[in-house]
Amino acid sequence: MEFEFSQAERDFRGRVRDFFAGQPPPEHGDRTQRAAYRRTLGERGWLTLHWPEEYGGQGASHIQQVIFKEESFHAGAEGGNSGVNMLGPTLMLHGTDEQRREHLPRIASGEVQWCQGFSEPGAGSDLAALQTRATRDGDDYVINGQKIWTSGAHESDWIFMLARTDPEAPKHRGISFFLVDMATPGIQVQPLIQLTGAHGFNQVFFEDVRVPARNRVGDEHRGWYVATTTLDFERSGIERVLVADRDLRRLETWWCTGGSAHQPATRRHLLADLRVAVEVGRLLAYRVAWMQGRGLAPNYEASMAKMYNSDLGQRVANVAVNVCGLPGQVRSAAAAFRYMDSVRLTIGQGTGEIQRNIIATRGLGLARG
Ligand SMILES: Cc1cc2nc3c(=O)[nH]c(=O)nc-3n(C[C@H](O)[C@H](O)[C@H](O)COP(=O)(O)OP(=O)(O)OC[C@H]3O[C@@H](n4cnc5c(N)ncnc54)[C@H](O)[C@@H]3O)c2cc1C
Repeated sequence: MEFEFSQAERDFRGRVRDFFAGQPPPEHGDRTQRAAYRRTLGERGWLTLHWPEEYGGQGASHIQQVIFKEESFHAGAEGGNSGVNMLGPTLMLHGTDEQRREHLPRIASGEVQWCQGFSEPGAGSDLAALQTRATRDGDDYVINGQKIWTSGAHESDWIFMLARTDPEAPKHRGISFFLVDMATPGIQVQPLIQLTGAHGFNQVFFEDVRVPARNRVGDEHRGWYVATTTLDFERSGIERVLVADRDLRRLETWWCTGGSAHQPATRRHLLADLRVAVEVGRLLAYRVAWMQGRGLAPNYEASMAKMYNSDLGQRVANVAVNVCGLPGQVRSAAAAFRYMDSVRLTIGQGTGEIQRNIIATRGLGLARG
């Protein structure tokens, strides 16, 4: 078996690395600086590398996309955003020509930032239980309800969201998919502060929010099927293994320069175990990209990569906080931050239990229930 990148892929990696070396992202940049840097990436076509050329992309392969993500992560640039990774590909499949013309160029240029409004207080793993209502009124829908855990809503210009349009229908068949301008009257964003003190996600409240009917994606009441496409695009990332790899490298450096009182043999074995695990996780993520590149649709394979690499991030963080001893418990310490931050890994984008259900039923063919 040959796991090497091709010469063309190595050349591509070199070009991306040179770009980030020449134009590094702003360190600790505020919202305006980050938006400006995003536009710089957009101008070069780096944001939508993998999109087809007809939609402003460069038609890059999935492996090139993974390479780009690896290099941008090492450079400290922001990860992909939900407009580029989720909404754009969804509109290519299900959007009208007008929706594609209006939104795709502004996602590609980095001008407009999107967030994802799916989860609700009573609808996460069981997303189809969502209760936010959209009622038809002339040429508009009127939306009332609440979303929760909406990443980046406080910094987003638009939200793509699900709302119930037919409360009488079976739950999967009464949902529609909407594109909503966050500046529309009646939308209120409230921060949810994480364990670490960071502000990543929010609650979003909708009170009589009027959305033009032309902003519905796909047929009325058929939004569930649009949303499942969106979620498939969400599950194929390599970011988790990059985080685990970065944290492990930091731990190796700290530990190997006398940072802990542990016995050398204990240290060697723990580090070796984690390094093997990181490399396994990397191959699982590469396999997903490789399958996509071949036109195959990864499902339990994407779940395996997601589940393994989320657990892995927590494993690395757990070892780090333990070997750091008491200083690692201090709230401001890097190890404590990473430990607290890693809790979310096995919840977002489908919990560990849901991924295991998918692997067991679709991968192993076991019966449901
Ligand atoms: C970092 C992060 C970012 C997020 N960003 C967004 C976002 O931008 N937009 C958005 O819409 N949502 C977002 N979410 C929400 C996320 O999608 C939900 O948290 C997730 O789907 C789980 O739903 P829940 O929190 O309601 O938990 P629940 O679904 O209530 O689950 C509670 C527990 O029950 C278990 N469980 C549930 N059903 C089953 C089952 N069938 N079999 C076995 N166990 C089960 C779960 O695994 C979990 O342990 C984010 C979450 C996180 C952590």
